[in-house]
Amino acid sequence: MTRNFLKTSRLDQFLETLRLFGELHAPTVSESGVHRFAPLEDPGDLFLDYRRTQIPPKKYLLPFREEILRYTGGVYREGHSGAGDIVLFGIHSCDLEGIAYLDRVFLADPADPGYSARRSRLTLIGVSCEPDDFCFCPEKRESTACDLFLTQSDQGFHLASHSVKGEALLSASGHLLEKGPKPSPPPRASGYCFPPQDPQLRFSDHPLWKKFASTCVSCGACSVCCPTCYCFDVREYPALPEGGTRMREWDNCLFASHGEVAGANFRPERLDRLRFRFLHKFCGFTPLQGVNSCVGCGRCKEVCPVGIDLRELTAQPAREKP
Ligand code: SF4
Ligand code: SF4
Repeated sequence: MTRNFLKTSRLDQFLETLRLFGELHAPTVSESGVHRFAPLEDPGDLFLDYRRTQIPPKKYLLPFREEILRYTGGVYREGHSGAGDIVLFGIHSCDLEGIAYLDRVFLADPADPGYSARRSRLTLIGVSCEPDDFCFCPEKRESTACDLFLTQSDQGFHLASHSVKGEALLSASGHLLEKGPKPSPPPRASGYCFPPQDPQLRFSDHPLWKKFASTCVSCGACSVCCPTCYCFDVREYPALPEGGTRMREWDNCLFASHGEVAGANFRPERLDRLRFRFLHKFCGFTPLQGVNSCVGCGRCKEVCPVGIDLRELTAQPAREKP
């Protein structure tokens, strides 16, 4: 039996060791009670018993707003990609799988330079979790899409390395570890089958889309909080005569403006925007055609002000094409 068990009483020392690898960020609770990933200056601020943060860890890889180009007097300079190394501790498996999906999008050839730079500076440490009624990730999910994964038990954490960086983390914290059994991961609440089985869901006259669209208010919250939604817009901010900047900013396919191109709008109807998002989420498109990018985190159901639950998609019985 190898020494890869960390007693709960040594967690604070372990967190101090992690600081050797970068600025430590972890789940915390804001003054207004929002669960969020934030810098962890005091270990006492760690809140590991969370279900989901309001905004997923994608914020570390895709800033809400970033400068991608600055031009002055005919000289163009690419934007810089931000700060130094970050150790992100306490990520649940669904969010790790979300990052793995974003990697497939933004590190595919040619890789996005900003995303690529930030990703290379990010150390990911996962922690096992207990599902609630909103979760529907696959059964026995224990993601390996991280550097180190901690499986919790009553006495502490079993540590498993999944990268060279993970091995270095284990080595640096070896003096805190002891031999111990690996606990069983908690049972999951899933049972949902994606992609949706009903082929008629592709058509806009399906009654489910009409039902969703009759209550959706196009607030976009379901997309903002989704760990795999990455719609963005690119805007120019001229500062004539000197030059200007080009910014990349989060956008949202639930907004009517997202479908506008040269005066036309490809998805003016709310129903079409809802259908577009969900079919993209579950069926993929372009190089990731057929890939389900919903990781079952349950955020969209939790935040939707009118209670739209995309799990209804899979509750539809499969029917023959007309
Ligand atoms: S679609 Fe909903 S449940 Fe699926 S990953 Fe996005 S926010 Fe989570
Ligand atoms: S959160 Fe709900 S109401 Fe808001 S855009 Fe998404 S589905 Fe529509």
